[in-house]
Amino acid sequence: MLTAIVGINWGDEGKGRMVDLISRDYDVVCRYQGGNNAGHTVINELGKFILNLIPSGILRPEVTNVMGNGMVIDMKHLCGEMDRLIDAGVKITPDNLKISERAVICMPYHVRLDCLEEDRLGDAKYGSTRRGIAPVYGDKYLKKIIMMGDLFYPDNLKKRLEGIIDYKNLFINKAYDSEPVNVDEMMEYLTEYGNRLKPYVCDVSDYLDAQIKDGKKVMFEAQLGALRDIDFGINPYTSSSNTIAAYAPIGAGVPKYKIDKTIGIMKAYSSCVGEGPFTTEWFGDEAEDLRKAGGEYGAATGRPRRVGPFDAVASRYGVFAQGADTLALTKMDVLSYMEKIPVCVAYEIDGVRVDKFPRGVMLDKAKPIYEYYDGWMCDIGGCRKESDLPVNARKYIDRLEELVGCEISVVSVGAERSEYIVRK
Ligand code: GDP
Ligand code: MG
Repeated sequence: MLTAIVGINWGDEGKGRMVDLISRDYDVVCRYQGGNNAGHTVINELGKFILNLIPSGILRPEVTNVMGNGMVIDMKHLCGEMDRLIDAGVKITPDNLKISERAVICMPYHVRLDCLEEDRLGDAKYGSTRRGIAPVYGDKYLKKIIMMGDLFYPDNLKKRLEGIIDYKNLFINKAYDSEPVNVDEMMEYLTEYGNRLKPYVCDVSDYLDAQIKDGKKVMFEAQLGALRDIDFGINPYTSSSNTIAAYAPIGAGVPKYKIDKTIGIMKAYSSCVGEGPFTTEWFGDEAEDLRKAGGEYGAATGRPRRVGPFDAVASRYGVFAQGADTLALTKMDVLSYMEKIPVCVAYEIDGVRVDKFPRGVMLDKAKPIYEYYDGWMCDIGGCRKESDLPVNARKYIDRLEELVGCEISVVSVGAERSEYIVRK
């Protein structure tokens, strides 16, 4: 049984929280793309954790966690994340954490290049998390990268690193006029963190294949959402990897398998971090009230997130791109303070009503067309069955389901493990 848990929107839908919940029924949780630009928040009896690189199944001792070949790994960051979890009492061993030998190492010079380019862009910046993600994925396509498995062959690694750094310095030193990267320093870096991480590195394809053949249940955990997918999202304001479910078997290491079920995580309103078109964006007090109610500050960066009403046009496209079979609607409780809840049902572009999610300049021009629903104006955090929900909350969920064309089977009404409702 292979399940993907993916984001329908711009990310931060609450994937970490849902993976933590649903992983109780799974044997393996596998991250298949992205790097430490992710921030997945999990709150349970052990405390509050923000996971950037390690799959959200790590908080369940019986689950094995896999970091797939589609990921880019900042080794220093990963060691820090492991230490924080170990300090909090979480057990991490090569038995419950496995790193693909084909995962790509995000080097300190990738982080520097990310900052140099964002600074050069000035006002036209992409809103990068400045963690080296675009530069390292760029190098992956240029085939100028080091994989985790290369750490086992230091002589070969040094030769390869010299060639790569020669090339990188053409940009860092000659184009950006910044301090050149030093090969010995980078070798030291790779040796120090490599020695700590090597015990976790293995052929995860073999491991996953054996698990799947053995009938084990495997979950693929996505980072970010459909609208940040490099191919299908709002390029260039996307991430640099494929966030969609279709990529999960590839990025995890088992391209021969197909996903049995895709669970889309969709937020009851909209939020977005970074630059780019965001049609339903609110400003001023309206935005501040929603941001406060939803605690919308970036898990990885602490940046205030942009917020606004639910966007059915973008979400319908997200459901399509993800191929979602079913949806979990998160953060319903956040809307409890609103008297009237707007929902964007279509866009207006150059005076014409548009129902299909546009791209490029047409998206930049889009204005929201809203429908308004009566709020419920009471705390729903304690609801555990659909019938516990106020009628207006049920109407809101039914309408979103209809607008995006996919069933909503779970509704999350709080950040804690137990705060959810199963509808069907
Ligand atoms: P992810 O990147 O998709 O894993 O989401 P984040 O962890 O970045 O952001 C989701 C935030 O909402 C976190 O702070 C969660 O603890 C919180 N959260 C998740 N589900 C709910 C919910 O149903 N209600 C409320 N109030 N908070 C939630
Ligand atoms: Mg997040």
